Formats: sequence, C-alpha cells, structure tokens
Amino acid sequence: MPVSPTVVQTSMTRSQVALLGLGLLFMLLLYVGLPGPPEQTSWLWGDPNVTILAGLTPGSSPIFYREVLPLHRARRVDVVLLHGKAFNSQTWEQLGTLQLLAQRGYRAVALDLPGFGNSAPSKEASTEAGRAQLLERVLQDLEVQNVVLVSPSLSGCYALPFLMQGHHQLHGFVPIAPASTQNYTQEQFQAVKLTTAGQRRAMASKRREGEHPSVTLFRQYLRIRTVQPEPDYGAAVAFLEERACQLGLGCQKVEVAAGRVVTVLTWPGTNPRLSSLLLNSHTDVVPVFKEHWSHDPFEAFKDADGYIYGRGAQDMKCVSIQYLEAVRRLKAEGHHFPRTIHMTFVPDEEIGGHQGMELFVKRPEFQTLRAGFALDEGLANPTDAFTVFYSERSPWWVQVTSTGKPGHGSRFIEDTAAEKLHKVVSSILAFREKERQRLQSDPQLKQGAVTSVNLTKLEGGVAYNVVPATMSASFDFRVAPDVDLKAFEEQLQGWCQAAGEGVTFEFAQKWTEPRVTSTDDSDPWWAAFSGVCKDMNLTLEPEIFPAATDSRYLRAVGVPALGFSPMNHTPVLLHDHDERLHEAVFLHGIDIYTQLLPALASVPTLPSES
Ligand SMILES: [Zn+2]
Repeated sequence: MPVSPTVVQTSMTRSQVALLGLGLLFMLLLYVGLPGPPEQTSWLWGDPNVTILAGLTPGSSPIFYREVLPLHRARRVDVVLLHGKAFNSQTWEQLGTLQLLAQRGYRAVALDLPGFGNSAPSKEASTEAGRAQLLERVLQDLEVQNVVLVSPSLSGCYALPFLMQGHHQLHGFVPIAPASTQNYTQEQFQAVKLTTAGQRRAMASKRREGEHPSVTLFRQYLRIRTVQPEPDYGAAVAFLEERACQLGLGCQKVEVAAGRVVTVLTWPGTNPRLSSLLLNSHTDVVPVFKEHWSHDPFEAFKDADGYIYGRGAQDMKCVSIQYLEAVRRLKAEGHHFPRTIHMTFVPDEEIGGHQGMELFVKRPEFQTLRAGFALDEGLANPTDAFTVFYSERSPWWVQVTSTGKPGHGSRFIEDTAAEKLHKVVSSILAFREKERQRLQSDPQLKQGAVTSVNLTKLEGGVAYNVVPATMSASFDFRVAPDVDLKAFEEQLQGWCQAAGEGVTFEFAQKWTEPRVTSTDDSDPWWAAFSGVCKDMNLTLEPEIFPAATDSRYLRAVGVPALGFSPMNHTPVLLHDHDERLHEAVFLHGIDIYTQLLPALASVPTLPSES
C-alpha cells in the first residue's frame, strides 16, 4: 500500500512509537492476509475493471469522498483513507491504492478533509472535539463497517481525537506518523484499547462460538487419527459419510483391499453425457515424533495467532475440508453445473497408494465416475504465490548388488565387492552432483525439473576381519519427466558394468509412465483453472512435483490432473514437526475452490464428448 510522505516526529514518547509500530504491524497483517499481488503491474496506474465512485456526505458541512466497492468477494473490513497536508483523496486514486483495495476485495473510501480537494472548509474543524465529531459523523453517513482507518501526517488532527473518543468503533488504525500526537499524554495512548488482528484471532479461538464453522470442521477432521502405519480409517469414513448426508450428496464406498475403503461423494451435474470433475484427497497422514511438537499433533490446537497445529494440517486434510466446504457453499447458493463433481477420499497415499489409488483406478467403480479432469494435492508456498503441479518425477528405487572375492581382512584381496560397489556409488554420486549444479546454476529451474538421487542404504559384511562376498547400496532416484527412461536405465546398466563383473541392480520401485498435464492456454481445463486464478489475482507457479503423489495413477490412466493445495504465505511443513496452517489461509482456500469448481464443472463440451 503506497503511503504519502510522512512527517517524522522528532520527540515521540514510547507509547507513541508503540502505536506507530502497532499501525505498521497491522499493515503487515493486512498484507499477509491478502491474496497475491496482481499478476499485471498496471494496477499502479488504475484498473479498468474498478469503478471509482464519488460523492458528498449529507448535512451542513458535506465531505467529498471517493469510493470503490470490492471487485470480487467482499471482505468484512472497510478501509477509510485520510490524507496529508499536500494531498487529498485523489492521491489515493492516482497511487492506485483504491483500485488495489477493490481488487483485493475491500470496500475503501478516501476522504477530502475540510478545506482540501473538493471539501469546503468547516468551522467545526477548528476544535479538536469538532474534528472528532466530524469524522465520526462522516463514517456514520458512509455506513462503513469494521473500519480500518489509515491516517497519514496532518490527518492525525482528525484521527487521533477520534481515536481517543470513539476508538471502540474502529477495527484497526494505521497511523503513518500522524500529526498532533504531542497533544496527548502517555496515559491517554495507553487507554486506547484497540484490538489488533492478532488479538481478534486470539479471542476467536478462545470463544468457540466465534470460530468459523469451516475451521471447526477442519479441526474435527484433524483429530481423527488416520496416522500410518495403523490409520483409523473407519472413523474417517464415518466422518465423510456424515458429511455426505449433511450435504445431500451421494456416497459410495469402494473397498479396494481389506480395510482399505475409497469414499466417493457425488454431486451430479445437469449433463450426464459430460465427463466429470474429480476432487481427490487422501485420508491418511504420516507418523509423528510427538516429542518434537509444540502441541499434541492430533489435538488440532489453535494458537492465539490462528495457526492450527496438526498432522495433516497441510498434507492434506485441509484440502479435503476445503472441497467439502466449497461444495456446501455452492449448493446452498442454489448452483447447478453441467459436469458432475466427485470427491474421492483415498487411503494409503503416504505409503505409495498401492492399496489405494493404484487399485482404485483399475476398478469398474472408477470407470463409472468418467473422470475428465482431476485436482489433487500440491504443496504450500511461503511466498505470495500458489504452486500448481502439472507433472511429477518418477520414483526409481534401485538396489545395486556387488559380488566379489571374499577372504581375510588382513590381505590385499583382488576384485572385492566393496571396491566395485565404491565405483558404482562414485558414478551415481557424480551424476547427483551434476544434476545438483544444473539446478543451482539455473534460477528458472525448479527442483522437480532435474533428476535427484540419494544413497539411502548400505548393506553387507559380517565381521571386521572378513572381506564379504556381497555388498549392496540402495538409491532413491526421482527421475524428471522429460528424461528418456530407456536411456536412463541403460546408463544405470553402464555404471554397473564399468565397475566390473558381478555387479547387478534391481528395482524396488520403478515408475515408467510419467505424464504431463497441459498448462497450455488452449487446453480447456487449464484455461478454466488458470482463468479463475487470474480473476482472483492469484499468482500461479506451475512446477513439477518433486516427489510422488496419487496424481501419477490418475494421469497414467489418462485423467489430466493438477496438484494444488491453496496455501500461500505458508512454510512447507508436510511430514515435518509442528505441521500447521493459519486459519485465514485455510478459509481463503475455500474461497478459491468456491470459484474454481463452478469454472471447472462448466467447461464446455469437449470434442471427445460430443
Ligand atoms: Zn499428501
């Protein structure tokens, strides 16, 4: 948010500095709570989509104002902008602040203070009490609610007396070196009990009734212990069945292996000839090391700032609930879409999906879903952007076994298993280093675009003084989707042969069907997905998923899939201690799906469907 030049206070008291700090903190919170900066840079000079309204408040000394209404979903906070001595409300328009706030979903009003811009001077403004009254009346006339008041320099003459008298009406106060702070004592500043965004969230978490019901539902789901290696799948399925019942959705349970149930919730579309939209999420979570957690990982503790701690908070119980809550909202609003929406909740993803999605895609029940496109899990992004994954690397788990001459540990034995294994390990680690440097030297390249490998196990030997006949090394390769897999396997073969005789390798896992989901604007699914993100001013960062998810099974049977977990401003904490998600980010994710689902479920008939 651009600000006017500030009048620097030369002798601020500690409480005044604190107040200023509070204001700046609020601005920061405002930033953090907002979705990404618009992709285009033209906002600074105005947005053709934003209409700037102007008018005068009623009454004897009218105040001129410029106003913008939220461009998309309205937020619960209205922003009122005052101005400094050399400026007026037009400045906020010229800077693009009004337009930016509208794009971010805020109603914002910029005022011309009496005697500035288009507002006539006012006698009332000559006294402190008069200025406070005037501002209070203007806010009432404009019917602004939950006001965040932005007050640069001179406007402090209005904002501070108002703050001292009527601060209970404000939702937030953003002072930018406001004038007239010297008129108030430290005690007066201390008496101001303005709640900050953090305090509000803290109060909300203390008052259960104040919590958003979607957050409460998310926390309930987090408390179900679907933790590997013995997940309580029964409880998860029961939870989902209840959701289906509450939402009036069809519910189908497909037991793909003993105790391994895929739950499918269905919202039928209006045109059954069209392929469906599949929203996938897995129900299991990875184990925890409880001693490293600040809070019980299955308690879904929410801290004073609004962070929800829990295994699965990011991976990926958040997404499951976001799907459900977006569908609930859309149904409640009376929408119907041409394409059917299926939500699949699958077991065992965290242990490879072999008794989950891998089996499910081979079932007739999967065929009858007629999935045309799928959304599945992605990763958090610590920046303002959202990552979307259009492909994955192929996991290749390779065990190299080397055989050689055994003997006594005191002798120089020729052709030992260890020497030959050492050569293979050297070759593979040299390849690793080459890929690592390729990634490091090219800032455009993301981790998923290069092949990684790690030496993860070394086995062999029985005693210090016995040269073993066999030794082995295990490697976890993640092969980039553009790699020629046949050539890559020949390379593996080559490394083993070069090491000498009796060196072989075998696969513990070998994925050979890497698929890339189109991110071309001509692709109707991508166009729908990216179009919504553009409309919502979300910055997308398309990437290749560095590890493996259930998306690979979907893509392999011809269902294009995007991996997307809408969590920006969030550190990547999947599988980590203190996995957590901020409730505001979680709720914003529901808003995103509420826009995405209508677009995807309304993708026009494809050539293959007509
Ligand atoms: Zn996951």
